Amino acid sequence: QQDHSIGRVISIKGFKYYLMTENGELETELSGKLLYGSENEDLPKVGDWVYFLDYDKSGYIIDILPRKNSMSRKTPGNKTEKQILAANVDYAFIVQGLDRDYNIMRLERYLTQVVACNITPIVILNKADLVENMRLYEEEVLKLQRNCEIFFCSTLTGLGIDRILNSLKEAKTYILIGSSGVGKSSLINSLTNNEMQKTNATSKANSKGKHTTTTRDLFLLPNGSLLIDTPGMREFGLTSEEGVNTNSLFPALEALSAQCRYSDCRHLNEEACAVKDAVNMGALPLEIYESYVKLLKEQRRFEIRIEDKK
Ligand code: GDP
Ligand code: ZN
Repeated sequence: QQDHSIGRVISIKGFKYYLMTENGELETELSGKLLYGSENEDLPKVGDWVYFLDYDKSGYIIDILPRKNSMSRKTPGNKTEKQILAANVDYAFIVQGLDRDYNIMRLERYLTQVVACNITPIVILNKADLVENMRLYEEEVLKLQRNCEIFFCSTLTGLGIDRILNSLKEAKTYILIGSSGVGKSSLINSLTNNEMQKTNATSKANSKGKHTTTTRDLFLLPNGSLLIDTPGMREFGLTSEEGVNTNSLFPALEALSAQCRYSDCRHLNEEACAVKDAVNMGALPLEIYESYVKLLKEQRRFEIRIEDKK
């Protein structure tokens, strides 16, 4: 249709939606149809591709293109509702600092969550300048059998940043996940060469000569890929889609489950369960099993007793 252009949401502030467009950054609002006719889930989120109209006075978003996927968290205090935090994400950088923040159980939960959203996880262990033997951490992460890339880096010394940059795929969207203080802002600055500060990036004027100043949540990486860092993403609880096969989120566990006596074994209190046997013999890391049980518990929403757990 005539004047429609396509842009991507890089930041949302109140009723203002900031788009990355062919002609630079543009401040827009929602069209009446979107504003009044939509459930929260169907409103634009950071990472969404949208159709917009650019009038002299203001830009309007008129529709959202279908999402490839989205990252969400449960709405606090509401068990069934979820908040979408970001849309159309290909890879997730799961960042932990090699200081007090390092926690293998939390890492495992993030990995599960990311895989459940159909996003490829990449582990980044930052603050490598603080540890003597990175190999120990690598071995622990490898035990989770996630088969994902692991990077060590230090934004302080610059160690490992090149390796991350060289690994970036073109024209993909990355998202940053990790607790406060692990070095996400520092990492953004290292990866984007300080070209874009986390706060108050002033954009180029758009075609109509308008300037916008905004705190971005979406950054351009040197190879043209994009990096999303939304505040809500920094801490997100474990959620899971109804109907997701819990086994399939844990490749190490799924392989074993074929040997359980019952084909519908939940690996809890069933007899002749190959998964629990493997845990008891130390062949399957307890972290993986506990992460599985936690997710199952959330999915089924009933109390589960775990017996015979060493
Ligand atoms: P964010 O909250 O995840 O965005 O973390 P920041 O980037 O704000 O960093 C939090 C703190 O960790 C700051 O005091 C940084 O100086 C420090 N920090 C970040 N990266 C490193 C690193 O590689 N090594 C060390 N030792 N400290 C770091
Ligand atoms: Zn079993």
